[in-house]
Amino acid sequence: MAKINPVIIVIEDDPPIRRFLRTGLSTQGFTVFEADTGKQGIIEAEIRKSDLVILDLGLPDMDGVDVIKAIRTWSAIPIIILSARSSEQHKIDALDAGADDYLTKPFGFGELLARIRVALRHASRPMEHIKADVFVTTCCQRVLKVDLHNRVVSIDDQEIHLTPIQYRLLAVLVKHAGRVLTHQQILKEVWGPSYSENAHYLRIYMSQLRQKLEADSTQPKFLLTESGVGYRLKV
Ligand code: CA
Repeated sequence: MAKINPVIIVIEDDPPIRRFLRTGLSTQGFTVFEADTGKQGIIEAEIRKSDLVILDLGLPDMDGVDVIKAIRTWSAIPIIILSARSSEQHKIDALDAGADDYLTKPFGFGELLARIRVALRHASRPMEHIKADVFVTTCCQRVLKVDLHNRVVSIDDQEIHLTPIQYRLLAVLVKHAGRVLTHQQILKEVWGPSYSENAHYLRIYMSQLRQKLEADSTQPKFLLTESGVGYRLKV
């Protein structure tokens, strides 16, 4: 983690949820500051030397997506959305505006903590999950290894041959491992800005990657689907 007591700003207008977050996060060693409006939240994020923002989207004075955009004009700190809005478009709008992650209410506190840890790790050392250019993740006794330096991908030390685009897609997911990437963000990084509408490319290549890397491509364990929103690589 970035500091001994990372500073989290909770921007949320619902008092019981604010209280729940303050109590839970303080117990876990975080320093918590609260705001019940978007404007106050933006100010808190700026003056508190904050490490992470937890943001509700439905705020009394402004839309949470505009809070993200405002913070992103001067800061790259992780922003985790905590919202009752569960529609795919809301998630996509928030992630495209620069949020790092998204949890839908009701949420599990353990899951929120896990997302916070990933976001802080990513922020303090962006490539921390990649040791000496090699990304490794394990699930169900299978080991996925991506050697970014030598461009070698393996499952259980068996090399998997990928086409250049399959590899580029996997490398983008590795670069942002543990975080949700929207379809648009992936399309832009893999194919370029002019391809951001070609979601079917992504579906095709993701399915090919899964067939090569997953034990059962219909039950992916590494290349996870965020339904209707995008994908996340398991860390
Ligand atoms: Ca609210």
